[in-house]
Amino acid sequence: MARPIPDKTETSDTPAGTGPLDLPVETLRGVGSRHAENLRRLDITRVRDFLEHYPIRYVDRREIVPMGELPIRLAMPEERPVATVLGTVVGARVAGKPARFRRGFAAQRLEVTLRDDSGSAAVVFFGGGWRRDHFKDGAVILASGPLGAFRGRPQFQNPDYEILDHEEQAAFHTGRLFPVYPLTRGLTQRQLRGWAAAALSQHVKHGCETLPQELRTRYKLAPLHAAYSGIHFPRSGEERREAVRRLAFDELFFDQLFMGAIRRRREHGRLGRPCATDGPLLRRIRAGLPFTLTGDQQGALGEILGDLASGPPMNRLLQGDVGSGKTVVALLAAAAAADSGVQTAFMAPTEILAEQHFRTLTGLAGPFGVDVRLLTGSTKTKARREILTAIRSGFCPLVVGTHALFQPDVAFHDLGLVVVDEQHRFGVLQRLALWEKGVDPGRGNTTPHVLVMSATPIPRSLALSRYGDLDLSIIRERPAGRGKIVTRVTEESKRDAVYGYLAERLREGRQAYIIYPLVEESEKSELRAATTMAKQLARNPELEDHVVALLHGQMKPEEKDRVMRSFRDGEVGVLVATTVIEVGIDVPNASFLVIEHPERYGLSQLHQLRGRIGRGRHTSYCVLVAGLDLDAETRTRLEQFAAIDDGFELARLDLQLRGQGDVAGTRQSGRPAYKLADPLRDETMLLEVRARAREALDAGAFDGQLGPEWEPLRRKLKRHLEEAGALTDVG
Ligand code: ADP
Ligand code: MG
Repeated sequence: MARPIPDKTETSDTPAGTGPLDLPVETLRGVGSRHAENLRRLDITRVRDFLEHYPIRYVDRREIVPMGELPIRLAMPEERPVATVLGTVVGARVAGKPARFRRGFAAQRLEVTLRDDSGSAAVVFFGGGWRRDHFKDGAVILASGPLGAFRGRPQFQNPDYEILDHEEQAAFHTGRLFPVYPLTRGLTQRQLRGWAAAALSQHVKHGCETLPQELRTRYKLAPLHAAYSGIHFPRSGEERREAVRRLAFDELFFDQLFMGAIRRRREHGRLGRPCATDGPLLRRIRAGLPFTLTGDQQGALGEILGDLASGPPMNRLLQGDVGSGKTVVALLAAAAAADSGVQTAFMAPTEILAEQHFRTLTGLAGPFGVDVRLLTGSTKTKARREILTAIRSGFCPLVVGTHALFQPDVAFHDLGLVVVDEQHRFGVLQRLALWEKGVDPGRGNTTPHVLVMSATPIPRSLALSRYGDLDLSIIRERPAGRGKIVTRVTEESKRDAVYGYLAERLREGRQAYIIYPLVEESEKSELRAATTMAKQLARNPELEDHVVALLHGQMKPEEKDRVMRSFRDGEVGVLVATTVIEVGIDVPNASFLVIEHPERYGLSQLHQLRGRIGRGRHTSYCVLVAGLDLDAETRTRLEQFAAIDDGFELARLDLQLRGQGDVAGTRQSGRPAYKLADPLRDETMLLEVRARAREALDAGAFDGQLGPEWEPLRRKLKRHLEEAGALTDVG
């Protein structure tokens, strides 16, 4: 059951969410219940949603080409330039045979002729007979699409089009920018434009401001009413830019407030258990490491120990490229906790990773008398009982495991630190829920410190916006003494040479991965391809002394673990895998990686795949076997990948190429994506906003300590926290 949020935000008598912008869309002129139904499909239910349904683009009068000046050129459809025309219908007829599979008039070809002062153009809609009534003689049409030619005349095929009314025509002639909205079935551009105008004139008043004057002045931001009108009906590019800047500021600011408030709610005046930062275990384990920490590892450890020393519980994200050595940093944090007599729970997302951590930690800390335990879903009943006792009695200071660590019957003697590995699989709200589970009501006002670790290298600004509720430590440096990774792009015709090379590495005692990264649609055929490949390889005379094993997503988990283990233990020489093998898996002897179909992947994903090698002292090889007909863009991408080995730099490039949507699975649920802000582009703004949000929260903006100017944000925050409370289902 959702537990009510401690109510610290409500200070006025106005119930949350009842401003004029929160009225239902039906209150807009011209929006009936049927329209409201359609609008719901666009997630528009309140007036505010309408105002925040931003245009995807604008049509500018300057883009319109007089038809007499349209180029007449034969070109393949995908090479045709996009052109926009505005003209009057001077004829329309249904002709030709019905398009395939469909019958009758409605499916026939529709041919329309448009004319303006300078000339004319043909517009054809294949299978578009049903549109006949849209093109009455004299109707004024705005059409936009790839331009071809037919019989020496310019011709559009199935373009986007709009029928303009008088008002819209007039607007065009005054040179305004014209908004074009994302649509859904049953709605037209004209309706959306009309309703946007109605929302602006009926509801958007000077009094609707949500941002305190002080902030608007400081950052020279347009007032909200001006921003709304400037984004829907800009009179100039400049006005639009200012509107976007203001609204993007709002998105970032609110997001930072929200995450800051979540964090405060979590801390709730509680303190972390103060830990000794120079105790004997920490010193001994550190001195006993078979290597020295890199500068970045030392920096991160310093920040962590600073958090552990005193004050509120730590909430830190440790970000570091695959193989950068996060585990040992977490171990030293656990040692500091153990020095102070509190326990650490170290959670990994899968059993195999939990096992790996268990071995590593036992190897490094066991000699110093630390009793490390492993608890997973497959721990046998008897052993489990024994482990639970060790945990409950406090005898065991460090327990490694999977989600099994948070089963109700697992009781800690005194849990002081929770480490979550590869946390990018969890969003902010899941993290909160997890954390709440670690809170022991018997412990008064102290709660566990939390360290989450992620191998997804994303730029700092993006991390701050995604994980704004966490402090951030970054490890960029790779440990010294690692062999380098040589990456090569090759193609199908070189396959034999690649295998020859692979066989040589095996003879030298190394191991290899061959990865068939899976794309959902082609899962079956990929599996077939991978199976065939594994069989062929097993028969390859050069590989006859080596075991080739296959790992794929349809295998049972135990079966997968068995294969992974025999690879880890060196029994298997070549692992052919269709699944993306665990990001964190650490088999230093594996030094050869073949990636099939690399063209299907973004830079960050390729980098994650490559992270499986380069972990030992040998030189490693990553070979991309690309498909035959790569387009230039893909080839460039693969070559960039081969040339760059820094995960952060690749992530940045990837974001530029593909937008910030989904960098290797960092998308998270529970929080809306930004509509206008872009943490990468707006990095400076983001850093400012983050500082202002912290100040406001510190000053008690949401406990009513700051004036009525903060009221709208206070209300909005309360509403969102309530929704979040329902989502996390804590309690
Ligand atoms: P990740 O950050 O991907 O979790 P791991 O913690 O698994 O990386 O570390 C990868 C490997 O690097 C491990 O075998 C670990 O022992 C080793 N390692 C960690 N830190 C150093 C260092 N400073 N010098 C040399 N090797 C290191
Ligand atoms: Mg790891």
